[in-house]
Amino acid sequence: MIIEADQYVTSERLYSEACEFMPGGVNSPVRAFRAVGGTPIFFQRASGCHLIDADGRKYVDYVSSWGAIIHGHADPVTVQAIKEAAENGTSFGAPHEGEVRLAREILGRVPAEMIRFVNSGTEATVAAIRLARAATGRAKILKFEGNYHGAADCLLAKAGSGVATFSLPDSAGVPAGSTADTLVVPYNDLAAVAEALSDEVAAVIVEPVAGNMGLIPPAPGFLPGLRELCDKQGALLVFDEVMTGFRVARGGAAELYSIQPDLLCYGKVIGGGLPVGAYGGRRDLMELVAPLGPMYQAGTLSGNPLAMAAGYAAVSRLDNESYERLEAIGVRLENGLKQVASVPAQIQRVGSMISVFFTPEPVTNMSEGGETDRKLFGRLFHSMLDKGFYLPPSALEAWFFTLAHGEDAIDATVEAFGASLREAS
Ligand code: PLP
Repeated sequence: MIIEADQYVTSERLYSEACEFMPGGVNSPVRAFRAVGGTPIFFQRASGCHLIDADGRKYVDYVSSWGAIIHGHADPVTVQAIKEAAENGTSFGAPHEGEVRLAREILGRVPAEMIRFVNSGTEATVAAIRLARAATGRAKILKFEGNYHGAADCLLAKAGSGVATFSLPDSAGVPAGSTADTLVVPYNDLAAVAEALSDEVAAVIVEPVAGNMGLIPPAPGFLPGLRELCDKQGALLVFDEVMTGFRVARGGAAELYSIQPDLLCYGKVIGGGLPVGAYGGRRDLMELVAPLGPMYQAGTLSGNPLAMAAGYAAVSRLDNESYERLEAIGVRLENGLKQVASVPAQIQRVGSMISVFFTPEPVTNMSEGGETDRKLFGRLFHSMLDKGFYLPPSALEAWFFTLAHGEDAIDATVEAFGASLREAS
């Protein structure tokens, strides 16, 4: 279906109103379409793999709430669980069984012994860093260029697509002191890690599969190498699995690549579409968290009953068959996109995360990813949008698909991608 530009009339009206009230008309920068141009689409509903915009138009969704949705939108089991929880009270500010249930479910799947729930991925990484510093008595942390760990001051150094697309190496308002202890090295570069690591470094934090500079898999040996180097220097290894957790495998990237990190961060899928984050790890480390230990961290709505119920409904139904199905969808999409790509393109995928770089060679780090043809992506994005396919509005974001993406939707996506690419190039 070809859609005329003037058919986005309600989105345009809402956007101009939103701009009066909210910076850029949005509550998270990438949603504003600045990286692809044009007016952001406002949505009214979502179901399965589809989004319905404010003008009533339907799209196959490849944002999937930036990876939070894995069973499809408005998944009936998740919706029912939220309804039932809401009827019993939306927040107690006190312990309840739903927290225990979700904690047990998560800890049965990932290599962590204890967990603390928070409200976002950002909160999870901030707490994990604080815990690593508390445990080691060291101040410095090491992160990778293009890895995004949320919008906390000390982690906003070379932090992936959101800042990269706007050409801001760092955010204004972050005092130099906040990132003074943050070391940044290129992704997949073990020699750079070895050089930067010392006995002053508390933790190495890594996206085990990078998804915030497009999808970049860890090079063979990279994650085991990090484990080894951390052990040598007495630094903790923190896997930020906010994106990869329960998405790339049942036990996340730690399971997929057989690595035992010291601390792990989660978010997205574990909230079933509601705001949740979590950090966890070895018992001796987690016992440093208040009230057991001296590392303070707290939250008014942490572990709230709705989020716990949605998270349990999402996580507990993910079995081996789910991941086999996600893999089959992924292979179909990946092979299809490769077949119709009429210009040099790298289609990179791990599990249900995929992205397209318009570069001649496979992309292994941020500087290579930054070479992608962003203008071409912008034209492709709008052509796909007009055909009813909602891609992430940035050349440097991973696309996410769900268990609700059927073969018909995948085949239609491949066909539209081929046609859009021909139009755009
Ligand atoms: N870590 C990773 C790997 C992420 O992808 C994100 C968000 O996209 C975060 C942390 C921050 O999570 P949140 O946006 O829930 O604060």
